[in-house]
Amino acid sequence: MSVHVHVRVTAGFAVSEDGELVETTRCQCGATWTKTYRVEDGEPER
Ligand SMILES: [Zn+2]
Repeated sequence: MSVHVHVRVTAGFAVSEDGELVETTRCQCGATWTKTYRVEDGEPER
């Protein structure tokens, strides 16, 4: 069995109740992942 290398493609974005940005990525093999980004209020640079 050869090693399958997942190719993650962004499937979409959503915002959780906590105000975090949740990115959903998936591979053509059917595997899915979720990645959470914390969105700060205001500009990131200060
Ligand atoms: Zn895969």
